[in-house]
Amino acid sequence: MTPPAPLLLPTSDEALAWVRARTSTGLTVARDLVAGLRSDPPSEPEEVLRRWDEVTLELSNVGAISGLFSNAHPDLAVRTASEEAEIDVDKLVTELRQDRALYDLFAGLDPAGLEATAARLLEKTLEEFRRAGVDQDEATRARLAEISERTTGIDQEFSRNIRDDVRTVQATPDQLDGMPEDWLAAHPVGEDGLVTVTTDYPDSVPVRMFVKDADIRRQITIASLERGYPANEPLLKELFDLRHEYANLVGYSDWASYDAAVKMIEKGPAIPEFIDRIAQAAQGPMERDLAVVMERVREDMPDAERIDAADSTYYEELVRKEQHDVDSHLVRTYFSHDKVVQGLLDVTGRLFGLRYEPAEDAVLWHQDVTAYDVHPIAADGDGESLGRIYLDLHPREGKYKHAAQFTLTEGVAGRQLPEGALLCNFSRGLMEHDHVVTLFHEFGHLLHHVLGGHVAWTRFAGVATEWDFVEAPSQMLEEWAWDADVLQTFATNSDGDPIPAELVAKMRAADDFGKGIQARQQMFYASVSYWFHTERPADLTARQIELQEQYSPLRYIDGTHFYANFGHLGGYSSAYYTYMWSLVIAKDLFSAFDEDDMFDGEVAGRYRDSVLVPGGTKDAADLVADFLGRPYTFDAYAQWLAR
Ligand SMILES: [Zn+2]
Repeated sequence: MTPPAPLLLPTSDEALAWVRARTSTGLTVARDLVAGLRSDPPSEPEEVLRRWDEVTLELSNVGAISGLFSNAHPDLAVRTASEEAEIDVDKLVTELRQDRALYDLFAGLDPAGLEATAARLLEKTLEEFRRAGVDQDEATRARLAEISERTTGIDQEFSRNIRDDVRTVQATPDQLDGMPEDWLAAHPVGEDGLVTVTTDYPDSVPVRMFVKDADIRRQITIASLERGYPANEPLLKELFDLRHEYANLVGYSDWASYDAAVKMIEKGPAIPEFIDRIAQAAQGPMERDLAVVMERVREDMPDAERIDAADSTYYEELVRKEQHDVDSHLVRTYFSHDKVVQGLLDVTGRLFGLRYEPAEDAVLWHQDVTAYDVHPIAADGDGESLGRIYLDLHPREGKYKHAAQFTLTEGVAGRQLPEGALLCNFSRGLMEHDHVVTLFHEFGHLLHHVLGGHVAWTRFAGVATEWDFVEAPSQMLEEWAWDADVLQTFATNSDGDPIPAELVAKMRAADDFGKGIQARQQMFYASVSYWFHTERPADLTARQIELQEQYSPLRYIDGTHFYANFGHLGGYSSAYYTYMWSLVIAKDLFSAFDEDDMFDGEVAGRYRDSVLVPGGTKDAADLVADFLGRPYTFDAYAQWLAR
């Protein structure tokens, strides 16, 4: 059997017609497959599932490429057509999941004869249909659809209110003492003798970090904490009520329980338990970090007892600078972009037994993009390609603004090769070390996608694991971007000298400082995300103040309404805990590696085969236990936090 070939992408001239044709063909094939399933279903349960998985594959093929092109294609018409295709796929997915005839077909299948993964697919499929309300009466289904539509609308309006509510603070040039030269050059003094500082991150983050004038820091902090208020308050209340109603209609006691049921944490009430557990583990580290910060604060303000958000960023940064003395300009000289990318490929190739072969025949959507075929290194020569990856790493107009992995195709054994892309916004020359860490992180998702793209079912391909686990492999891979031995294999300056181990140690110490404070602040955010959804408090501000007092190291600033610009209440909803949950798992996974021998191929190979290769074919807790030889624990995370 010939192995599947990579997808041939269109040239720029062909792209628009190609996207439209691929969308209409994909949706038509999916609809025809569904029609066939309804009218003349196969008699074998596994064959029914196989056809349904073909529907999933067709829809994912349209959704994936349109998701990528809407964020990356240089041609606006292609981006727009791709956005429309994404909406069409979403609509069809919702329609199918509320299709009673399809549900009855699946519900009538006897799982007894199915092999384990097929039985898992059946179970997950029925669950997805039920979560969409397929087994409810018609009036309920209509109400669920109405709620879904309204919550999507609220979510968009909520985000827009935050994005569009840009506030400003005026400062005299004297009041901006402490700001870097390049920032000041980009902010000229106006005719009134004042400089305007906006709440946009490139303005407000450096001001909160570097400006010596406490009053200006306070003004910009309060302006930032007030974005979206009061417009977002009624929207949030409506959102919490609607989500609660939705959860009740499909049989859950509250939204958090509905949301948690398909995550590793499983139960809603396990979320506040997790939050309290982390908060407790972080108590000592927070006090330790705060003591250091307060000592520095008191040099300027002898009577200070507690700080708030207007001072914390500034003093934490000051401690990092004064006590850890990392020269970020010097650090950059070791991270030239091309060497970093080659280093990333060499490091991950060595770790996971892979070779990246430039894909000469790949058609690229932009000249900045590079493509590689990923081959396994075997004793008897390299094996067939495991998949294709595209790296699109520099900013340009109309492109996605953050850093993320995007899927081109889901991989299914013998059927379709996994292909994915990284969209990032790195400089072409010297890189910040933070960006190097981000590159390793995102590449972790890409590797997971490719290595996990050889399972039997589309539904379980690649990163199709629980959402509160999906960050763990990437958070773990970040460790390799912090190891001096690893960095010295590629991080060399223009004279060819590798980055000194002492410098890496200082970078790590500076990065480590404040992690107790950060953990507690994160648990404050997680508690807002959980309790606002679960309790739906009448007075959001009062409840925020209580939760802040309980978890945050930082004092509440009177009259502010942080929740009104806490954008993650939209997408993460009640599950903001997930990032910390993944980190706990990542630290546990990493505990199996030897920090003095980060290239140990035996451990890395076991990790690859037991955690990445299975994709979503097992529960994440089982993947982790398969690798560690025991269930996951908090120990490694708690030790790291206390260190
Ligand atoms: Zn990530």
